Amino acid sequence: MVAQEAQKDGLSVFSKWLQKQLVYRMDVEKEEDNIESNKKRREKGVVHNVTREPTPKCVICHGPNQVTSCKNWSETTIANR
Ligand SMILES: [Zn+2]
Repeated sequence: MVAQEAQKDGLSVFSKWLQKQLVYRMDVEKEEDNIESNKKRREKGVVHNVTREPTPKCVICHGPNQVTSCKNWSETTIANR
């Protein structure tokens, strides 16, 4: 009888632990969903900003900098003089 009672206790403890794990998982999934939606919103905002202000492409070095702020720009103008 003692062994059976111990088994019952173990089962109830296990079921309680399982419920806690499930609740924890649900909470985590909810948080992940929120993060995902936030990321999507941010990405949309970034895309919107990019369409508004496109990244300047340098004609000289093809880098993400404007031609006037390029290191090779001054050298080219000096060479042209
Ligand atoms: Zn450049």
